[in-house]
Amino acid sequence: MKIICIGRNYADHAKEMKSELPKEPVFFFKPDLAILRGYKFYKPEFTNEIHYEVELVVKINRVGKHIDEKFAHKYYNQIGLGIDFTARDIQRECKAKGLPWEKAKAFENSAVLSKSFIDKNELNLNNIQFYLTQNDQKVQVGTSADMIFNIDQIIAYISQFVTLKIGDLIYTGTPAGVGPVKIGDKLKGYINNEEMFAIEIR
Ligand code: MG
Repeated sequence: MKIICIGRNYADHAKEMKSELPKEPVFFFKPDLAILRGYKFYKPEFTNEIHYEVELVVKINRVGKHIDEKFAHKYYNQIGLGIDFTARDIQRECKAKGLPWEKAKAFENSAVLSKSFIDKNELNLNNIQFYLTQNDQKVQVGTSADMIFNIDQIIAYISQFVTLKIGDLIYTGTPAGVGPVKIGDKLKGYINNEEMFAIEIR
């Protein structure tokens, strides 16, 4: 199983990061070990600035390569929610030096994933509303309507480079409002007001 993450897929987030809008999807990987088990996230020691990034997550259910955009909807049935935890201080260093982002993005436990997924037929894929709370305050609010590249376009694009396999997860990018976590914080994620995960920072 692999985890593919899309960067800069919401214009308002690209703007807050002072990044240019991408002309094609930007993607990177996290290893399978990145999935957080349990509900406690322990801040790693190599960073002083862990940011949350709440993201819709697509679970692939069929093997495919060079998938045509018009058939991409046949490759997933379920949508979940997750956090792409990011060591923002390290990411800034990597960006400044033109280095890959793995140190900032691919560390263990950096991918929160909801236990449950929602059948895509129960959702309006063009307007899936989601949000993240930090200590019961809404900090990020998003809708799939604001994605620069929609799910089908992402699948078509990525599958040109790598074969997608059953169980692969695609984190589809984060809207604006990313920010730092501190020990003791409680983060909860929602799709259409349904709680999808609840974790605690330690
Ligand atoms: Mg992200």
